[in-house]
Order: sequence, then C-alpha cells, then structure tokens
Amino acid sequence: MANVTNDDAPRGLTCPRCGRGHFFTTNTEPLLNGRIRRRKRCRSCRRKIVTLELENESFSVAER
Ligand SMILES: [Zn+2]
Repeated sequence: MANVTNDDAPRGLTCPRCGRGHFFTTNTEPLLNGRIRRRKRCRSCRRKIVTLELENESFSVAER
C-alpha cells in the first residue's frame, strides 16, 4: 500500500515487527518534563508499542 498517510504517527515511526507505519493510538499519557507517552497498536500486525515523545525532539520507541 503506497501513497497512504501517516495518521497521527510521529515521523519515521515504523512497526518493529512488520515495518509499516500505521498505528492506532490507544492511550496518551503526559509525563513529567514535558514528555508524552503514547501507547499504540500496529494496524497491520496488532503489535503493541510505546512511544516517548519530547516537546521539540525526536522520540524513542520502547517495545512491550
Ligand atoms: Zn506491525
């Protein structure tokens, strides 16, 4: 599937299992220090991931 939008996924975020970049956001949780933790689920393979986003920086992905 080419030519699809990224929805609400941060730039460059791809699924660690299937490599696609489309996710449902299942939970958004503000943390201290301006960080936001989002729990997401891959639309393709249903893999759960967690992203940590900073205000003006890139994010890191933690697998669960
Ligand atoms: Zn996936």
